[in-house]
Amino acid sequence: MASLSLQHINKTYPNGFEAVKDFNLEIADKEFIIFVGPSGCGKSTTLRMIAGLEEISGGTLKIGDKVVNDVEPKDRDIAMVFQNYALYPHMTVYDNMAFGLKLRKVPKDQIDKMVKEAAKILDLEKLLDRKPKALSGGQRQRVAMGRAIVRDPKVFLMDEPLSNLDAKLRVQMRTEISKLHERLGATIIYVTHDQTEAMTLGTRIVVMKDGVVQQVDTPQNLYNAPGNLFVAGFIGSPQMNFLDATVKVNGKDVTLQVGNYSLKLPENKAKALIDGGYDGKTVVMGIRPENVTDDATAFPESTVEAKINVYELLGAEVFLYFDVEGFNMTARVDPHTTSRTGDTVKFGLDMSKVHVFDKETELTIT
Ligand code: ATP
Repeated sequence: MASLSLQHINKTYPNGFEAVKDFNLEIADKEFIIFVGPSGCGKSTTLRMIAGLEEISGGTLKIGDKVVNDVEPKDRDIAMVFQNYALYPHMTVYDNMAFGLKLRKVPKDQIDKMVKEAAKILDLEKLLDRKPKALSGGQRQRVAMGRAIVRDPKVFLMDEPLSNLDAKLRVQMRTEISKLHERLGATIIYVTHDQTEAMTLGTRIVVMKDGVVQQVDTPQNLYNAPGNLFVAGFIGSPQMNFLDATVKVNGKDVTLQVGNYSLKLPENKAKALIDGGYDGKTVVMGIRPENVTDDATAFPESTVEAKINVYELLGAEVFLYFDVEGFNMTARVDPHTTSRTGDTVKFGLDMSKVHVFDKETELTIT
């Protein structure tokens, strides 16, 4: 059983800085959990507390059914892979992977079996005699993974393991790690600040900000139903467009007034604003770039007109950047678009996809 339970976990560093505040999370066996958030939000601190490398200031940490707050790192049955994978330069790939097992006095034939098994999983069989300097970055990263795998731990902890690799290798290793998770059937907790990595790898993602968990959810739910303004802005690239709007209720109809534009909300979203008593109040309207189109006929009742500041072609898609009533906006449109920088264009907004946030609490209203 490799479930984990973090209950009311806190971390205050000796200088008084509260890096992690009341962190609660139940992790099931075989889950792939991602901690994601901007630099300094407490991801690594939380991971290091789980590893036992950092003292827990408050709360309870369980691995399986056992409270491990005061258990030595080496006795927690976890393996950690860091971003600077620190292989021993004078040792071969084989010896790098075998080293930890030798220290633990595992019999030689058993070590051999475990190293070769890991090498097979990671496609390192032909490289076992090489030294790290004769390996590519991705191969080195695989050796670092191999060192963790041979220990056959209950839980893998990974702290930005791909951050030192170039963009192409990152994508390749991302797929490798995903396959590895399936093959090993292990519980993995993975720290990254890269939201693409988070979205593609995680079965569930924990979004953190300033030491506080913002939302824990599947990638799909985080994208489609962000719980607050921060999560909405953090997940998705290019990021969600945000515009301040005033709510106007007229019977069952609700419009969001953005400057001179009146944008009508569909019935289900209107209801949430009526029920919440938002008539006359300022809210934040959020709409993802893919829900904004330069084909205004698609949404003739909710259009805005603007001059395109930048046209950006990315092969399979085009991003158009423009301003509406002082708010920066991006539209993700078909690559065959005829719209170009400097053109004044009518954009259609798919109001059925709009998110609305409370301006003060920044929580999602609908
Ligand atoms: P990054 O993505 O940059 O690695 P992170 O989310 O992993 O960031 P942590 O390394 O967990 O962030 O750090 C969380 C906060 O705690 C930061 O503000 C950091 O400056 C602070 N911090 C980390 N270690 C210590 C320490 N030993 N003493 C005091 N503050 C610390």
